Amino acid sequence: MVTQTLGEFRIDRVVESEGAFAPASMLMPGFDPAVLAAAQADDWLRPQFLTADDSLVMSFQSFVIRTGRLTVLVDGCVGNDKERPNRESWHRRQSSAYLDQLAALGLSPADIDVVLCTHLHADHVGWNTVLRDGRWVPTFPRARYLFSRAEYEFWERAHREALATGGPATNHGSFADSVLPVMEAGRAELVGAGHDVCAGLRIDAAPGHTPGNSVIAVQSGGKRALLTGDVIHTPVQIALPQWSSRFCEDAAQSAECREGLLNHACDSGTLLFASHFPSPTSGVVESAAGGRMRFRCVGC
Ligand SMILES: [Zn+2]
Repeated sequence: MVTQTLGEFRIDRVVESEGAFAPASMLMPGFDPAVLAAAQADDWLRPQFLTADDSLVMSFQSFVIRTGRLTVLVDGCVGNDKERPNRESWHRRQSSAYLDQLAALGLSPADIDVVLCTHLHADHVGWNTVLRDGRWVPTFPRARYLFSRAEYEFWERAHREALATGGPATNHGSFADSVLPVMEAGRAELVGAGHDVCAGLRIDAAPGHTPGNSVIAVQSGGKRALLTGDVIHTPVQIALPQWSSRFCEDAAQSAECREGLLNHACDSGTLLFASHFPSPTSGVVESAAGGRMRFRCVGC
């Protein structure tokens, strides 16, 4: 993705990893190749988003929005040094690529004014913190971290229950190592739905994937963009919005949210930035044959 410009705002991405991720049927239990083939006459999803053997091509990435006054980082990927024994590719990662890409945008961690997390899953909060002298500390030392209150309270309760019952660590341990330390450092603010970060930048509720799941609405210079987090994991769900991921807390609510968002965005020119869409990532939703929708990349 080349830098996308909306009025005074510019949006870039920082990619932590990208490639064939997993079988589509692993992410979406309802996946059916025959249904998918019938839903998109020209097979527009392959090979860019779906391999010949039905694996999803996905990216793990953050977005950087520069408003002219604020530099805002949206979602923190997996992070380095995190103990994720149940996810081999996330376990004790050691890569300079993420901060190097930030530097290539002319930014150091201290330049980030605001960190937003669309939700608090492990692949969206990792770079919230770094390990320093055996302690997890905020990566972005000057930033205000804005978390949805509903989202934080849901996972905080789950975390307390897991501690009390000896259950598995909440979100692979990411609540303890990538969210709580930010709160304890006094850098976090809990906000409600419809929170304006600044003029032209708003956090909107998009529940289903998680109870406090959010999208980030951007508007500047007469142009609109939507950072959709995990409301849509893959463009396959633009062809078939009813296929929720197995990581959705409420699959039916997630599908309803996705369908509403896509119908609203379709043919509107709204630029979508989804957390897991592979390069070039940004694009628009357009109507397609048979009452379907499709994705068209912008900024290739
Ligand atoms: Zn995710």
